[in-house]
Amino acid sequence: MRIYSFPRGGISFDDPTVPPNDSCVAAFLPALSIIPLGNNTGGQVYPLVSVGDVVREGMLIGRAAGPGAANVHATVPGRVIRRVFWKNSDGLANDALVIRMEGAFEKLGKKEEIFPWAGMSGYDLQRIIADYGIVEMEDTGRPVAEMISSFRNAGENSTLVVRCVFDDPWLAADHVLCKERVKAVAEGSFIIARACFRVSRVVFAVSYNEKELGEALLAEAGQWDLPSSLALVGSRYPQHKQRELELVLRAYEKKEGLELGSLFILGPATLAAVYDAVKLKKPILDRYVAVGGSAVKHPQVMKARIGTRIGELVEQCGGFAVSPRRIGTGSPLSGRAVLDLDEPIGKTSYAVFAMQKAQAGDRPQRDCISCGECRGVCPVGLDPEELYKRIAGSRIEDISGAGECHGCGCCEVVCPSGLPLSTVITGEGERHG
Ligand code: SF4
Ligand code: SF4
Repeated sequence: MRIYSFPRGGISFDDPTVPPNDSCVAAFLPALSIIPLGNNTGGQVYPLVSVGDVVREGMLIGRAAGPGAANVHATVPGRVIRRVFWKNSDGLANDALVIRMEGAFEKLGKKEEIFPWAGMSGYDLQRIIADYGIVEMEDTGRPVAEMISSFRNAGENSTLVVRCVFDDPWLAADHVLCKERVKAVAEGSFIIARACFRVSRVVFAVSYNEKELGEALLAEAGQWDLPSSLALVGSRYPQHKQRELELVLRAYEKKEGLELGSLFILGPATLAAVYDAVKLKKPILDRYVAVGGSAVKHPQVMKARIGTRIGELVEQCGGFAVSPRRIGTGSPLSGRAVLDLDEPIGKTSYAVFAMQKAQAGDRPQRDCISCGECRGVCPVGLDPEELYKRIAGSRIEDISGAGECHGCGCCEVVCPSGLPLSTVITGEGERHG
C-alpha cells in the first residue's frame, strides 16, 4: 500500500521522556475542580450557577452565548465555592468555577445506556453535539457544531477525515484512546457525516506504522452505508497538521481517482466525544492526557477529569524528579507555557510536560551562522532565518511570509545557535513577554 508524505521539510521527532503510548491510568478524582467557562476561541459563556449552588455530575453550568463558545458542564458532583479569573501565558483571560466535590456520582461507575441515532436527522445530531458542549479536543477548541454548519454551507461534497497521525510522540494520549476506543472513533465519524449532510466519504488517515489500527477502523466502518477508505501517511513531523495532511490527501485523491471535495479533518478524541454525546448522552467529563518530560518522575498517560489541576496529575506521576525549568501544555514543539500548577486540565489539554534545564533547550543563544538548517526543515518553504532577523530587528513593516508560518517549531528545534525562531515568528515571544 502506498504511503503518502508531504513534499518538503519536517523532522523526525522522538522524545524518550514521553509516557508509554500503550497504557493509561485513571487519575484520582479531584477534591477541588476548576471548570473553565471558556476555551481559547474567545467565545462567551454565561454561568448558570452561583457560588453556594449544588451541582450534579454532568449538569449544564455554563451556556454558550455566541460564536466560538461551547456549553460547559460540571465534571464532578459538588458545591460551587468560588469563581476565579486569571491570564494564561497566551495573554488570554480565563474564567472558571471552582467545585468542591461532594455527593454521589450519577455516571461514574454506572452502567451506560446506549441511545440509537439511526433515525435522527442531521439537525438533531448537530443540536445534541452543541448541547453537550463538544469541541475540537485540541488547538483552540472550536465548537464542533459550528464546524458542522460551515461544512454544510460549503456548497460542495466533502470528505470526513479521521486523523490518526502520530508524528509527534506527545500525541500519546490520542494513541491510547485510538487503541481503546476504535468503535467510538469510527462511529463518531459517521455521526458527523450524517450531521453534515454533504459528506460523501470517510477517509481514515493513519500513520503507516499503525496499519493494524487503520484496518480495525475500516472494519468498524463496514457497517455504515457510506464509502470509507484508508490512507496511510508518513510519520515525519508535522504530518498531522492541517496543511500537511491536506497536501497528502490531495495526492491520495489523485492517485486513487477520487473526488474528495472539502476536507473536514477531526482527531480521534473529538470523534470519541461526539460518540459519547450522541450515544451515551454524556458531555465531556474527562480526557486522556500524556503527562511527562524529563522533570517528571514517572511519566504516564492518564484519564483525568476536566478541571483537575495540573499539579495534582504531576503528583500522581510521583512528582518532580528535579526542579522543572519549563512547564507547558500540548507538545513542547508548539505548546504553551503553564504559569501556575493550579491551572486546570481543559477539554483541549492533550499533554502536560515538565522539563529540566537540559531538555528545555536552555542553550546559550549565539549569532546565526547561516547554516541553512532552518530553511531545510520548514515544510512551508519559508526562510526562518530571514524572518527572524527582520522581526527581531523590528523591521515589522517587512515581514511578508510570516503569516504563512503555522508554528510547527521545526526551525527552532534544529537551529544550532539556539535562536527562538518559531517563538519570534509566531509572536509567542511577545505574548510571553
Ligand atoms: S517558519 Fe514556521 S512553518 Fe517554517 S519551520 Fe518555522 S515554525 Fe514551522
Ligand atoms: S538554523 Fe539557526 S544558525 Fe542556521 S541559518 Fe537558521 S537561524 Fe541561522
